Amino acid sequence: MLFLDTPIEFLKGVGPARAQLLQRELDIFTYGDFLEHFPYRYIDRSQISTIRDMNIDEPYVVLRGKIDEMHTITTGKTTRLSARLSDATGALELVWFQGIKWIKESLKSDVEYIVMGKPAVFNGHINIAHPDLERADRESATSKKYIPVYSSTEKLKSKGLNSKGIAKLMEQLLYLAKDKVPETLPVDLIRKYKLPSRANAIEVIHFPRNAHDIALSMQRMKFEELFFLQLDYQYAKHDRQRRTDGYLFPVVGDHFNRFYNERLTFSLTNAQKRVVKEIRNDMKSGHQMNRLLQGDVGSGKTLVALLCMLIAVDNGFQACMMAPTEILATQHYLNIAKMLEGLGVSVELLTGSVKPAAKRKIKERLQRGEIDLLIGTHAVIEKDVQFKNLGFVVIDEQHRFGVEQRSKLWTKNVRPPHVLVMTATPIPRTLAMTLYGDLDCSVIDELPPGRKAVKTIHSTDAQRLKVFAFMHNEIAKGRQIYVVYPLIEESSSLDLKDLMDGYESIVREFPLPQYQISIVHGQMDSAAKDYEMNRFKIGQTQIMVSTTVIEVGVDVPNATVMVIENAERFGLSQLHQLRGRVGRGGEQSYCILMTGNKLSNSGRERINTMVATTDGFRIAEADLKLRGPGDLQGLQQSGILQLKLADIVNDEPIVRAARQSVQEILEKDPDLSQIEHGCLRLYLNRNKRGFAWGKIS
Ligand code: ADP
Ligand code: MG
Repeated sequence: MLFLDTPIEFLKGVGPARAQLLQRELDIFTYGDFLEHFPYRYIDRSQISTIRDMNIDEPYVVLRGKIDEMHTITTGKTTRLSARLSDATGALELVWFQGIKWIKESLKSDVEYIVMGKPAVFNGHINIAHPDLERADRESATSKKYIPVYSSTEKLKSKGLNSKGIAKLMEQLLYLAKDKVPETLPVDLIRKYKLPSRANAIEVIHFPRNAHDIALSMQRMKFEELFFLQLDYQYAKHDRQRRTDGYLFPVVGDHFNRFYNERLTFSLTNAQKRVVKEIRNDMKSGHQMNRLLQGDVGSGKTLVALLCMLIAVDNGFQACMMAPTEILATQHYLNIAKMLEGLGVSVELLTGSVKPAAKRKIKERLQRGEIDLLIGTHAVIEKDVQFKNLGFVVIDEQHRFGVEQRSKLWTKNVRPPHVLVMTATPIPRTLAMTLYGDLDCSVIDELPPGRKAVKTIHSTDAQRLKVFAFMHNEIAKGRQIYVVYPLIEESSSLDLKDLMDGYESIVREFPLPQYQISIVHGQMDSAAKDYEMNRFKIGQTQIMVSTTVIEVGVDVPNATVMVIENAERFGLSQLHQLRGRVGRGGEQSYCILMTGNKLSNSGRERINTMVATTDGFRIAEADLKLRGPGDLQGLQQSGILQLKLADIVNDEPIVRAARQSVQEILEKDPDLSQIEHGCLRLYLNRNKRGFAWGKIS
């Protein structure tokens, strides 16, 4: 057994009970796991506080003073030793419950001590229990300047494993681990980036001598973490590409050509042409495609997807498009069916609300190959939906589908079909690199010509009358308007009241019979929602008051104004999605962000970002900076949130270096069979087993 795989239980001072706690509380099973439990900060021992000014919320304070009083106190069964520590600014109590006799004898009253510990308030007085003491005049040259602070939990603390307890075990383990921590990165990389060895980095991070060393060692560990994450993704991708044959679509035939020449009234943007070419190359490669298509709302992704589905049909395959909601699926279906009318392509819609008899018929026809394009919700991936020859799948709005759902598609034919994932929620590049390491990426970074960028205005509640006047004006021009209220689940009754109040004031301002107003919110049943939605869509109503249910892709080109109430309560990507609902026709469109007068810093930042740019990628970058990756949609299942050290916002250069290194290695040595890549093979094999040995016992 490798040293690092030794169960933590065997470390002196741990034992079975503490080992079990370490497993449960901190996921630490082995020596190796424990060594990777890094301090989250350090106490600089040279930063001495005064008793008057110390921060009692710190996990440690460092003080310097004399002990001028000492006595033992017995209450009930417990005895404690109490000493008074004084410096020029004040005094506090030091207490001991154990080792009293020895401490009492060794403490001197006329020398100065450096005292370290966690202050606590007890009966209105500050004390420090079991502090670390060192004579100020004897402070040894070897004593450490930086004291590591480790995260712990209440349960661990109750078993003596507070930060200090962990540090003590760590010191012991590091001593045992000398020469037993193998290098995991190829030598070439270590040299190229001048990285410290793994053994050295680990030791330094736990017990550093200076700040520079910490930074260097952290860099190394972050690089390692990101490197192996990339290796996982990219190796899997390479492996899959080499092993799984993809269907070949060599032909561009009648369906595509007739649609392209007879139905398209505009020419493709350069970005669209480029992306179609990228996808076509995949279709000719003999490998299965797994491609992410990013592009802002309205950039023409759906059209690109349709063109590719037609190529699949031209080659004798079926294609399928999956959307996250019934409304969206229906909308795609109606648009596509209309565009393809008379071209001899049979298109069907399959959603949860299709009647059983009709559903059965669709499934039968699908299996006989009488349906070329199937459009629907996740109903299309249910087990009993069998295709005759599925070759191409489009998934719209990726973040609502999990990886698992995506993989269900693979079993729908003898070989896995090509998969195109479309998302209108742009993902910052660093994130895409890490998150979608297993997907190829295409970007439509250009809007069709003639689109006018939506003008965005920030307005406060005090200017509401002006906003109403503006709305009257637009309606007089024949346009339609969205008014959106936030809905946050936990307080939904309160939010609903906001919405209803708002609705009433709008009805007062825009009265019947001249004005018709739709309202849609989450607590209506779906038939009522659809009815209201449809009234707005066909122009019977001028204003749609709603919660964010309209966030997902309704297409009403005549709508030119998006009023967002309490805009500060929305996240950036949500605001961006909402704004994407207008500006779909040829008219100038507007987005009005309503807020109160007082805004938090991050609220103001979000509003300013929205006013400053319509570029989805810039907005996504800002979003990532403001909120961190944990809050971004769709990241919950990704490895990114399990990163222990690296932070993909601030460590972008390391992300790039790691990704590039992995790419270069796999290009040169796709099997990782070269000797210098033995460590990488080892890592992958270990990972396939899924656990370290210590976790079995
Ligand atoms: P997305 O799926 O990216 O939101 P769509 O494919 O739905 O975008 O396109 C939005 C609208 O723009 C549709 O009405 C579509 O017909 C139109 N469109 C797409 N590409 C072009 C283009 N190159 N020139 C003009 N209009 C286009
Ligand atoms: Mg779309």
